[in-house]
Amino acid sequence: MSNDAHQKLIDERSALLAELTSLPHMVHGSIVERYTVCSRPNCKCHRGQKHGPVMCVVVNENGKQRQKYIPKEMRELAAQYVDEYNRALALMDRISAINVQLLQEKDHD
Ligand SMILES: [Zn+2]
Repeated sequence: MSNDAHQKLIDERSALLAELTSLPHMVHGSIVERYTVCSRPNCKCHRGQKHGPVMCVVVNENGKQRQKYIPKEMRELAAQYVDEYNRALALMDRISAINVQLLQEKDHD
């Protein structure tokens, strides 16, 4: 690899790392909407008109899937947070690919 090509990768990696620090809200999960039934026995939800939709983020805790309820006011943010995680993943994949290329050189930093 030429010095120039090498420097290009280092610069790209720096930019990717900088962007990564701009994603403090990353959430590893997926958003689902649920309809629920309540505990009031005479409620219409027991006759087919379920409550909802309520939004949940499905996350993995110790290997188990958990649904975390998200308040209505936070729904838009929750979607953005999940997007941030996916962007962070894409950045890390690219950083990883760059680092593999750098590892294949005899001298790298
Ligand atoms: Zn109900």
